[in-house]
Amino acid sequence: MNEVRAKKFLGQHFLTDEGIARRIVESLTGRTKHVIEIGPGMGVLTKYLIENRELDFHVVEIDRESVAWLHEHYPTLDVIEGDFLKLDLTALFHDSFAVIGNFPYNISSQILFRVFECRNQAVEVVGMFQKEVAERVAAGPGSKTYGILSVLLSAFYDIEYLFTVHEHVFSPPPKVKSAVIRLTRNGVTALECDENLFVKVVKAGFNQRRKTLRNALRSAGLNVDAVPEEVLSKRAEQLSTADFITLTKTIESCL
Ligand code: SAH
Repeated sequence: MNEVRAKKFLGQHFLTDEGIARRIVESLTGRTKHVIEIGPGMGVLTKYLIENRELDFHVVEIDRESVAWLHEHYPTLDVIEGDFLKLDLTALFHDSFAVIGNFPYNISSQILFRVFECRNQAVEVVGMFQKEVAERVAAGPGSKTYGILSVLLSAFYDIEYLFTVHEHVFSPPPKVKSAVIRLTRNGVTALECDENLFVKVVKAGFNQRRKTLRNALRSAGLNVDAVPEEVLSKRAEQLSTADFITLTKTIESCL
């Protein structure tokens, strides 16, 4: 792979607008002092985060050239060289933490699934995503973009679409618009149903989103005998997070 293709593969689009960089950093609510930035690149967000000396601040960056640049410019910063998706967050943080970044768009969904897995520690996420992904995460039932991540994340997070970012403020400009969203952990410590089954039900429903829930859930091997007809004849996108929890409880009662 040549250099240009390799960088493209890493989703590198550097933000060039300082005002937007500051706005992203200021969107952190400060509910935890432990913060990790994913993909700092040339440090456009990093430099504002470093200014806050109260923070226990770390960055994780996969690109060797960016890592070298960061070491040179911020000698005291904890730069973890590697893939965020492989990072053991529970070893790095023993308590709550926040995630921030202008994220590599090719792994946006995986980043959010990691956050969901760490929901008891990841109390806040402020980040830039591809606009479509941001909309999907922030969407409510009934909309076309509503999906697995919207349901799973909204069970545990309050989700806010903060602002849209135009492609011309990046170098090189991406093909798509971007948006910044904020997820803050809500007060739910545990769902009223088996959480693994909840994930399975939500995924099964949306993996075949054009089918009725009866067919989608059955083809995932779930027993839907106790589920009311009016729910089974709906599609996943018509159910709210609360509806999915009720549905999971019903399925659970037949296990
Ligand atoms: N935050 C910078 C760079 C954004 S581009 C800015 O706003 O200008 C995305 C960054 O994520 C790049 O620096 C890229 O090298 C890095 N990256 C890509 N995949 C990654 C991964 N799996 N783990 C950590 N960093 C990654």
